[in-house]
Amino acid sequence: MGKILELFRPSDYAVSSYSIDYEALYRQGIRGLIYDVDNTLVPHGAPAEERTVLLFERLHRMGFHTCLLSNNKRHRVEPFAERIGSDFRFLAHKPMPKACREAMTAMGTAPRSTVLIGDQLFTDILCARFSGIRSILVSPIDPKEEIQIVLKRIPEKWILKRLRKEKETTEKQKNS
Ligand SMILES: [Mg+2]
Repeated sequence: MGKILELFRPSDYAVSSYSIDYEALYRQGIRGLIYDVDNTLVPHGAPAEERTVLLFERLHRMGFHTCLLSNNKRHRVEPFAERIGSDFRFLAHKPMPKACREAMTAMGTAPRSTVLIGDQLFTDILCARFSGIRSILVSPIDPKEEIQIVLKRIPEKWILKRLRKEKETTEKQKNS
């Protein structure tokens, strides 16, 4: 069980995509940022906000390459990507790693210089794991979600609780 659980462990956690310490990521050698869209950057189905445009302007100025990686359809992802000036992949079939690897090729980054940012364990975090890259789990922006996502949140909560417990135990063992 432990090994399976490990697949779902994000490299990091953040309250929001907008509060991540991107300067620190840059200093660590990260040059490619892959983003889920729905509930990671905006509420499900919503257009890019002013703060989304400003964030991506800032990231590109800092020297990051960006790529949106969404399981949603083209008509959802393309206008969003155009508004913020980012590369994108739609119908990505996360957690399968193929589109994630294509995103890295498009950005010209390697697995060790790329991070994936998303709000779901079963798509985003698992996809990062299958692709051999770091991941940051953010809290979903909108607590109101469609039924198929609500259903995935139940085992997700259970896994996150187990991961937290395991971490506490290892830290206790380290300190004792
Ligand atoms: Mg999402």
